[in-house]
Amino acid sequence: MNNFHNILQELKLFDARLVAVSKTKSVAEIMQLYDAGQRDFGENKVQEMQEKQAKLPQDIRWHLIGHLQTNKVKFIAPFVHLIHSVDSWKLLLEINKQAEKSKRVIDCLLQIHIAKEETKFGFNENELNLLLTDFSKADLKYVRICGLMGMATNTENESQIAQEFEQLHQLFVSLKQSYFSQMECFKELSMGMSNDYKIALKHGATMVRIGSLLFGSRV
Ligand SMILES: *Cc1c(COP(=O)(O)O)cnc(C)c1O
Repeated sequence: MNNFHNILQELKLFDARLVAVSKTKSVAEIMQLYDAGQRDFGENKVQEMQEKQAKLPQDIRWHLIGHLQTNKVKFIAPFVHLIHSVDSWKLLLEINKQAEKSKRVIDCLLQIHIAKEETKFGFNENELNLLLTDFSKADLKYVRICGLMGMATNTENESQIAQEFEQLHQLFVSLKQSYFSQMECFKELSMGMSNDYKIALKHGATMVRIGSLLFGSRV
């Protein structure tokens, strides 16, 4: 909360949006930011998002930022605003199916693996090309691919972080020109967290996902 207005001012300079990552935080803590004007909140677990969505104001835009299992898509399909973490073709098909049932179009980002760590989900470039080939043939009517998401390596080495974000930015620009040139909706680059969002902004982030810097550290 302390840093909220400072962060917003910084983001304004870059025309970027804030997703306040509220995982593990209470409804009351979320309401504090809501009352200060924040509407975009990010959660990484389906059940937690569902429970909070039911209790909180209905004009909140909920962002799913964590790994999503296909069998859980149905629980968030009726309301989710943007899924940042699409990491398989199978998942995209399921989102399309559940979105149709909810009579909606669901906006999605493709999660790209840019970190040097093994544990993070996401596509490499080869897998991404395969997915886009499938996507171009399949004509999914209930999902829109609106951009890319990525996480840098968790390191103190700022030049490495900068390099990874720049790599994602280049990929974003080249896909936008080649593959998505006819699709206006392809415009979001979700990257940057509490520790590295300043670097992400310099490398073209349109959305940053900030938790601990807003809410305090998680236990
Ligand atoms: C938890 C989380 C964040 C926010 O992390 P902070 O370091 O608390 O800002 C951002 N993105 C994803 C995918 C997360 O899981």
